[in-house]
Formats: sequence, C-alpha cells, structure tokens
Amino acid sequence: MRKKIVAGNWKCNTTLAEGVALAKQVSNLVAERGAKDVVVVLGTPFTHLASVASAIEAENVFVAAQNCAAEPKGAFTGEVSVSMIQSTGAAYVILGHSERREYYHETSEILNKKVALALAQGLIPIYCCGEALAIREAGTENAFVKTQLEETIFNLSADDFKKIVIAYEPIWAIGTGRTASSQQAQDMLAFIRQLIATKFDQTIANDCSILYGGSCSPANAKELFGQPDIDGGLIGGASLKAEDFLSIINAY
Ligand code: PEP
Repeated sequence: MRKKIVAGNWKCNTTLAEGVALAKQVSNLVAERGAKDVVVVLGTPFTHLASVASAIEAENVFVAAQNCAAEPKGAFTGEVSVSMIQSTGAAYVILGHSERREYYHETSEILNKKVALALAQGLIPIYCCGEALAIREAGTENAFVKTQLEETIFNLSADDFKKIVIAYEPIWAIGTGRTASSQQAQDMLAFIRQLIATKFDQTIANDCSILYGGSCSPANAKELFGQPDIDGGLIGGASLKAEDFLSIINAY
C-alpha cells in the first residue's frame, strides 16, 4: 500500500533556533491532530537535522536532508555524507531538486551516485523530477520526465526502486504561486505511474508514493490531494509556517 506523504522543504531558511521551534510546533500540531494516516517529513538544512530529529515527538513525523554528498566519505571539503545524515536521526533525503540541478549542476550521473549511497545507508530518497516552462510550452514534458527517470531511478533494481518516493515538481510552479492545475498534476503522475508499471510491474507502480510539488498551499491542497494518483506533496514556502503546513496535511 502506498503512503500519503506531506514533506516540507525548508531550503536555505531558518536559523537553528527558528528551525527547532518550527519543528516542535509542527510536531505538536500533528500529534494533536491524532490521525496517523499521513507521513510528515521535515526537510531541514544539514545544520538542523540532529536537533530537529530530537525535538520531534509525533511518531509519524520524520526528518529529511535536502541533499547528500556523492561520495561516501573522504577529502571532500564541505560535503555531508549519507552516514553523517543517517547518524543525525534523519530518515529521508531529498535528491534531484530542480534548484540543485540548476544552480549546482547536478547531473543524472551525480544523482545516480547519491541515490545509491542513500539507499545503501537506509535513507529514503525523495527523488524530484519535473520540466521547465519552455518544455511544458513545447508540449514535451512527458518525454522530458521519462528521460529523467530512465537516466536515474529506473536503473535501480526492483527491490531498491520500491524504497523510493518520487516528487514531480514542474519548475514553472516552484515558488512562483503558479500551481499546476490538479488535472495537469494528475495527468503527469498517472503517466509516471504507467512508466513504472511498464519498467517494473503494476504492483510496484501501485505501491509507489508519487508526490506533487509546486506552490502547493492550504488553498489548493485538497483539490490536488483528491486526485487518484497524487499521494501527497513536497511543500516549499508553505512548510515554513506551521499552521499552513498543518492545513496542507489536513487536506487529507
Ligand atoms: C519546492 O521547492 O520543492 C517547492 C515545491 O516549493 P514551493 O512550494 O514554494 O513552490
């Protein structure tokens, strides 16, 4: 059975004290909500992982890193390895976010290394894919996303692929306030699920959690999450306010 997941991506925001306070607020609100039907993930800066992991009390709230090193250890100044991330108590790692692909030149080759390291360390990758506006306007978004998947996570064994969460994030919708319509998001997620069924099998496709990300907010979450192939969201801006993030979780 696939899980419903609402994951926040705090990006390069919050000081340590602010981040811990936000995590406590979210954890308390999720605990008060009671229902444990949704897995909640907080994607924090590296510096916050251990403190946020210790601050969380609700059992269905987990911590994610937003990136990891492409090497297991060694002379890579400034990098943070998967074993370091796992040692903080984090359970997830967001990989392939479009901001990392664009600003830090993360290629499919680099992402393949990161995904493999994360899986070997027992971290769950939230693997991001999605097209830029020009590709959407040219009507070639399906081919583009298919290639992104074929170059990366479709190379995994079926057993490893089963551990992955996918987040479809059209770049034109990230941080722009321009959400994909629920139909556009549903169509792409159904397409991705069909690709998984063809590449692996229908059971693996049915069990894979596929999230939508891009200007998801309390105002549009219910309609997005109501779509049959949308299993939750990867939330940027709206994850920085505990009440907004909870409203999105409550859309389920
Ligand atoms: C993101 O960066 O993953 C994201 C979805 O951002 P926002 O919700 O702000 O569009």
